[in-house]
Amino acid sequence: MKTMRATAAVIGGGFAGLSVSAYLARAGYRVQLFEKNDQPGGRARYWSHRGDRFDMGPSWYLMPEVFERFFTDIGRRREDYYELKRLDPYYTVFFSPDESVTVGPDIERTVTLFESFEPGGGARLRRYLEQARYKYDVAMRQFLYRDYRRLSDFFSPRMLIEGSRLRVLSSLDKQVRRSFRDRRARQILEYAMVFLGTRPEEAPALYSIMSHVDMNLGVYYPAGGLAGVAQAMEALARQMGVELRTSRPVSEIRVEGDRATGVVSGGRLHRADVVVSAADYAHTELELLGGERRTYDSRYWERRVVAPSMFVAFLGVNKRLPRLQHHNLYFSESWNQHFDAVFSSPAWPPNPCFYLSCISKTDADAAPNGAENLFLLVPVAPGMEDTDEARESYFQLLLDHVERVTGESLSDAIAVKRLYSHRDFAADYNAYQGTALGLAHTLGQTAVFRPQRRSRKVRNLYYTGQYTHPGVGVPMTLISSEVTAREIRKDER
Ligand SMILES: Cc1cc2nc3c(=O)[nH]c(=O)nc-3n(C[C@H](O)[C@H](O)[C@H](O)COP(=O)(O)OP(=O)(O)OC[C@H]3O[C@@H](n4cnc5c(N)ncnc54)[C@H](O)[C@@H]3O)c2cc1C
Repeated sequence: MKTMRATAAVIGGGFAGLSVSAYLARAGYRVQLFEKNDQPGGRARYWSHRGDRFDMGPSWYLMPEVFERFFTDIGRRREDYYELKRLDPYYTVFFSPDESVTVGPDIERTVTLFESFEPGGGARLRRYLEQARYKYDVAMRQFLYRDYRRLSDFFSPRMLIEGSRLRVLSSLDKQVRRSFRDRRARQILEYAMVFLGTRPEEAPALYSIMSHVDMNLGVYYPAGGLAGVAQAMEALARQMGVELRTSRPVSEIRVEGDRATGVVSGGRLHRADVVVSAADYAHTELELLGGERRTYDSRYWERRVVAPSMFVAFLGVNKRLPRLQHHNLYFSESWNQHFDAVFSSPAWPPNPCFYLSCISKTDADAAPNGAENLFLLVPVAPGMEDTDEARESYFQLLLDHVERVTGESLSDAIAVKRLYSHRDFAADYNAYQGTALGLAHTLGQTAVFRPQRRSRKVRNLYYTGQYTHPGVGVPMTLISSEVTAREIRKDER
């Protein structure tokens, strides 16, 4: 007798939706993926204009082993889909318009750099990175690729032992301050927390693994940028038989009794045995499910620490900018004031720290000849009023900073300009309060304390993506999807 294939409906075609679809297709499911935008990739889409091609979201390709594992799991080879180039330097850090340093693959140079910041700093960096490597290895083996359903999964005897070694309960800032007094050393070791949506004082010390991730494992550029990786995953998903439908928002998860029967899109019910939401979690719960079907109500979301939004400027500039590298970070002395403006007293940060990527340094196709492609990003508080006037005046303030850092006058050279912030995140991705990153990585929102990957009310409804464990960042969403697909199969058995 021929058995019917189980069917899955996946909502959202970002990295999480694409990867969970591939995992489920590999497991034998017939998968339909519904994406509201006309391009998959989610926050990692392209925007092209006048010969400039911008990665709209992520631009740092980190933890390459996670991507390799994904392709291997699916029975493919990553190198058949896209090429990788290790950047050198990985990034430049400006501490003021006149002082900059680079961090790159030569770890001895980074040790010497830290020694130049403060006597003994080099040796302490070595120790810090050894600890970070240890934590990373433990986290990869025991912490990241796991599902946490109840408190006892997290506070198990083994986790308590490993957790204390990983310093899960202490803050990153405390750990860094124990070893480093110099502002520049601390900023280099702590900056990545902003990309996890939290400030260093609130981030568990576990996240010192991010220094192992960038300094030891390295920073890469995938051909075509991160949006190119999303396109490669789209191609892979289609090859696996996933039916990918773009410009097809889901308006409802249809539930009968305690089971989802499918999703409604384009006014029609698409039946499925399993529904997986890879869209923003708050949107799914508050807008696609009726009140009694929600695991988390609006009060829950109001009490979360929502991760920052981002003010982004996509700029095509008709001149070369020799002071910049591919990735550039600007950390002023007033970085604590910036954190306050994001995390405690929401305001457009008057003396901002910012990230500036210039992928045309590596990728000739990203900008016309003789021009540069700039992506300017400032973390800002979620939920702020985001009017055209506020954006434009903030952009002018930023431009002044960028001109000082690049040492070039830019206003006359800008040929392409697009500003992107809260309103766009909300409209394009249904992002709660216009957040760029979902939920912050505070201790109270780590592992078992992140929203669960199983609905508690609807038996065959699952979640994946940056809101779930392990959290924010492209590699994390691939891990989340591997775990969600594994749990779906376990439940099925
Ligand atoms: C500006 C920026 C810079 C970043 N930089 C980095 C970086 O350098 N490196 C890194 O690793 N990470 C970075 N991140 C984080 C990373 O991009 C995200 O963590 C990751 O892409 C999230 O993937 P996801 O699939 O969980 O969510 P998303 O990418 O948001 O995908 C969710 C999808 O669901 C769709 N959707 C929503 N509602 C519906 C609906 N009702 N029906 C159908 N579809 C729907 C959305 O359109 C979207 O395509 C950055 C993020 C931003 C915003």
